[in-house]
Amino acid sequence: MSPAITSPTTIMRPTPVVRRHNFPTPLLRLELRDLAHEGASIFLSNIHGNEDLEAQVQNVLNLLYDSPEASPLHVKRPGTRSVTFIVREFDGVAYTTGLDLDDDHKEIHINAQYIRRCAQGGDKRHELLGVICHELVHCFQWSAGGSCPGGLTEGIADWVRLRAGLGAAHWRQEASGGWDGGYQKTGYFLEWLEQKFGDGLVRKINACLRKGKYDQTKLFGDCCDGERVEDLWKMYQKELEKKEGGHGDEDAPANPLPTHPAK
Ligand SMILES: [Zn+2]
Repeated sequence: MSPAITSPTTIMRPTPVVRRHNFPTPLLRLELRDLAHEGASIFLSNIHGNEDLEAQVQNVLNLLYDSPEASPLHVKRPGTRSVTFIVREFDGVAYTTGLDLDDDHKEIHINAQYIRRCAQGGDKRHELLGVICHELVHCFQWSAGGSCPGGLTEGIADWVRLRAGLGAAHWRQEASGGWDGGYQKTGYFLEWLEQKFGDGLVRKINACLRKGKYDQTKLFGDCCDGERVEDLWKMYQKELEKKEGGHGDEDAPANPLPTHPAK
């Protein structure tokens, strides 16, 4: 007999975040390595530096943290002091890194060729904001001192993107393989967990990743009423199968744009 599922639904539609608290924003900078590149112009004409970047920082911080004013139990954030967006050509879509001398200064590199490509179809502003949102999560999330598996780190980043209303057009809920496949696959699973265990579940997971080494059993046990993540994933798989009859991907494009390939 399958375990009972107490939460009735899986979400299909992202819920745009309501900005509740105004967190201090680090210094945000932009570097265009080649001003003559078409990708640089597309970036400038679609992203409004005076509001979009800060809005995404606020989305990320509101989704990952309680504000100090709202909760005396708020969790400390990483000390990110500046984020520099660098538009240049390289292989891949985007990645985030910290300066060697001071990891509190982050750099988000976005491939200018990718920006040019994404301008050829779909909603380029939506896609660009989604990539920016995802990368900003990496500037502010905890990762158990780097011991958190990449699948969970990337899943949290895409969960934030999803909840900020910036999921990519090709995203689909999918439950093949493991729960920690990363990106939107894990992101949708985290949203299902939020609905099952209550708003703030991902914030709790992020808080648990602040200190110590990654301990999967303890992490999910503490955050999900003692449950094992493997069992929760099985419940999620069954629920998706039931809902979609096992054919959830018919209308997905054959070659979806990768959200965030490796560096
Ligand atoms: Zn990422």
